Amino acid sequence: HAKKWNRGQYSIFHPDMRLGALTRLQLEEDLRKAVERQEFQLHYQPIVSVENNQTVGFEALLRWQHPSRGFVPPLDFLGIAEETGLIIPIGKWVLYEACRQLRRWQEEFPTASPLYVSVNVSPLQVNQVDFIDRVMLVLKETGVEANCLKIEITETVLMENLEASRLKLESLRNNGIEVYIDDFGTGYSSFSYLQNLPIDVLKIDRAFIKELTKDEKSQRIVQTILRLASSMGIGIVAEGVETAEQLDCFTQMGNQSVQGYYISKPLESSAANSWIRSTL
Ligand code: C2E
Ligand code: MG
Ligand code: MG
Ligand code: MG
Repeated sequence: HAKKWNRGQYSIFHPDMRLGALTRLQLEEDLRKAVERQEFQLHYQPIVSVENNQTVGFEALLRWQHPSRGFVPPLDFLGIAEETGLIIPIGKWVLYEACRQLRRWQEEFPTASPLYVSVNVSPLQVNQVDFIDRVMLVLKETGVEANCLKIEITETVLMENLEASRLKLESLRNNGIEVYIDDFGTGYSSFSYLQNLPIDVLKIDRAFIKELTKDEKSQRIVQTILRLASSMGIGIVAEGVETAEQLDCFTQMGNQSVQGYYISKPLESSAANSWIRSTL
């Protein structure tokens, strides 16, 4: 009946939508508690140099173990975390935990080749005025060297305010922390920012890697990105390498690092321990 009276109203009371709204609200409340209850974990995905097959670092990836829903993937709650500001305490925890873990590895495996940990930071987090101070404090408190921490930022964040981004990135660089551009090639990006911003590494989005062995155009795009990066002294990590063919193809293109299920899925910290031990 409602439909007949008012289409707009009808849609508001549509059962699926109400469920959606409730779920969202519940999720928000649960997320609030998750911070206090410490339901978060980090998993670590190895990043390997194609040149010598050595593990050069790990990307820290956030995991939420919800008490009744089980595992909730990051993309299902990061949006809400960002909107509610909860990403600030969560992001703080991520940074601490990733650095603490790296320090533990350095102590447990003193003979391992140098490793870095790469941490994803959200737009709200980067835009905090005390972002750099916080990062430096975490390094100081955990005893991790600045060159062992990489900060992953997406290009969309940088494009929002180029001048503010430049100052922030320069400040990171002056403190010895490298900046990695995450999901490179997927945003509404302009290559011009590469000219104006101090960027150390591009992480080529897995969308390109996926097509690499099937589509010649993707190959050309990736090749062009590699050449551009190389000519500017910028490093490359390929994301989402899932097959031997993709790895081969990428290896032929030059000396970079790769990350993906073919090498390893993200690992719990204990499994990452075993991974490092196996590289000794
Ligand atoms: P991302 O930073 O681009 O991380 C890579 C994502 O691709 C991870 O998904 C990883 O598990 C997945 N992946 C790695 N290799 C492969 C592969 O070979 N094939 C496929 N299909 N996927 C692969 P995950 O862990 O679900 O994270 C999704 C996104 O959530 C991340 O994308 C990142 O943007 C965000 N994220 C994760 N952890 C954090 C965090 O601590 N803070 C913030 N702000 N964002 C985070
Ligand atoms: Mg990332
Ligand atoms: Mg990425
Ligand atoms: Mg991605």
